[in-house]
Amino acid sequence: MPAVIHLDVPGEALVTRLTARRQCPHCKHIYNAVLQPPKVAGLCDVDGAALFTREDDREDVVRQRLRAYDELTGPILKWFGPSVVRSVDGTRPADAVALTVERVVLDAYCEIAVH
Ligand SMILES: [Zn+2]
Repeated sequence: MPAVIHLDVPGEALVTRLTARRQCPHCKHIYNAVLQPPKVAGLCDVDGAALFTREDDREDVVRQRLRAYDELTGPILKWFGPSVVRSVDGTRPADAVALTVERVVLDAYCEIAVH
C-alpha cells in the first residue's frame, strides 16, 4: 500500500523555526538563529557577510504560508485517510526524523513487495 508521510510539527514551532532563518546575501548559505546559528551572531561563517531575513520568513508571511498549507494540505491528508498517512513527529532532531522516515518508506516498500 502506498504511504503518504506527514511531518507533523505544531504551527507555533514552525513559526519559531522559520522566523529564525537567516541567509547570506553572497554565498546564499542558510542558517537558523536557534537550530544552526553561525559562529558569530548575524555573520556568515564562510565570508563574514551580514545575514538577512528573507521576505518569506517574516512572521506575518510565515503565518499566511501556514494557513495556506493547512487549507490545501489538510483535505489531502483526510482524503488519503489514516491507513495511508503516516505521521512522523517532526519536532525531534533531524537525524531521528530521517531514520523514522526511512523506516516508514521501507515498511511501505515491504508491504508492496509482499502483496
Ligand atoms: Zn556567506
